[in-house]
Amino acid sequence: MNEYDTNRIYDTVKDIGYHKTGNHLDADCYLLNTCHIRDKSKEKVFDEVGRVRKNYKDKKKPILIIAGCVAQAESSEMIKREPYIDIIIGPQSYHKINKIIENFNFQKKVELTEFDTEGKFNYLDKIKNNESKVSSFLTIQEGCDKFCSFCVVPYTRGPEYSRPFKRIIEEAENLVKNGTKEIILLGQNVNAYSFKDKERSYKLSDLILELDKIKELNRIRYTTSHPKDMTDDLINCYSISKKLMPFIHLPIQSGSDKILKLMNRNHKVEKYLEIYKTVKQKNHNVEFSSDFIVGHPGEIDRDFEDTMNLVKEIKFINSYSFIYSPRPGTPASKLEAVDKEVAKERLINIQKVLESHQIDKNKSLIGTSIEVLVENKLKNQTRYFGRNTFFNSVIFEGENKHIGKLIHVKIEKINRNTLFGKIDEKKNMRAA
Ligand code: SAH
Ligand code: SF4
Repeated sequence: MNEYDTNRIYDTVKDIGYHKTGNHLDADCYLLNTCHIRDKSKEKVFDEVGRVRKNYKDKKKPILIIAGCVAQAESSEMIKREPYIDIIIGPQSYHKINKIIENFNFQKKVELTEFDTEGKFNYLDKIKNNESKVSSFLTIQEGCDKFCSFCVVPYTRGPEYSRPFKRIIEEAENLVKNGTKEIILLGQNVNAYSFKDKERSYKLSDLILELDKIKELNRIRYTTSHPKDMTDDLINCYSISKKLMPFIHLPIQSGSDKILKLMNRNHKVEKYLEIYKTVKQKNHNVEFSSDFIVGHPGEIDRDFEDTMNLVKEIKFINSYSFIYSPRPGTPASKLEAVDKEVAKERLINIQKVLESHQIDKNKSLIGTSIEVLVENKLKNQTRYFGRNTFFNSVIFEGENKHIGKLIHVKIEKINRNTLFGKIDEKKNMRAA
């Protein structure tokens, strides 16, 4: 989402004459868009600010802006710790950035951290999203009302807000006009999307089925969803939609009901397994990925074993796993932490199994011909980059004419994250 936000900030500041500089040491204005989800992200921001300060030592100081969730959560504390920072702007206030930059003087620091999500999107809807990538993000929903005990998002992105259905379709049509072939619908809780106008109410499934009708669009994805909002209408899309990709990133976080309760996730493991089975019944090709948190307060060996058992049962093809990171102000941060070494060992163990499943899945593709949406040529290489239906990276020898096209690639080699192959001329000729 930060990538989407950064592009929209850029679309906005173009109006006041700001452009991306070819050399980042020449910038009049330096903006860091930040993430607060784990503690490391905050430290990375301060490291980066330190680097900027050093790099500009003998140059004119740029206006240094911190945007995003670290800005929202830490606000004035950031300026106290690092006075080189000039402007703090939260994720629901960045539509005001032009006024702030235009009126800025170095004597007065600025902080803007209101939750004005509706105002932001009303403003942004007037500025076209001119992204012209083969695969583009499109934010449809922001914020979260779920308050998982470990998570900072409800405090940094604010309450759930869903954009008007028609505005989203217009933005999608504009992206497709500019050459987009794949749209990734975004939201902190994307499947909680819910919008009502005078005529009717709309859910994520309505958006998917409407996007399905856009002729030049090839692929639809969405992320990130919550098991509680995985409703039947959405699951049905896996058998109805021709463009929805057969891959669901559906974080469960833990395989222990006790920990799910402590996390305030509001569902049990059973519910997740039920979703998995129903989706598979609708479309057997669908694969799952998840996020896992290990070492959440209260997690004992038995709970971790439950998580490992779930991992072995579902065989997620791609997942993210993290050691629990206490976030200031969240309920879990007040509970007693799990021993750091124990948490580290659990992370190593879960990653080993997750990786082996990922490799098994990739190995099973060797020798097969898979459909790839070609995105770009790799920098300083003759090879091209695209993704298969499961969102794996695919690298192959191609040509410029393939960019933006769906082609077949025969897989020859794999590693954990990437598939390597050659264009399958025979199959492509047949498809043409
Ligand atoms: N809305 C999504 C998750 C968004 S945050 C959901 O409900 O699943 C992205 C991921 O970051 C989470 O799935 C979780 O695994 C991880 N995460 C969030 N807070 C964390 C914390 N305090 N410590 C470690 N990982 C965390
Ligand atoms: Fe955070 Fe996701 Fe839980 Fe919302 S649903 S509080 S974003 S983990």
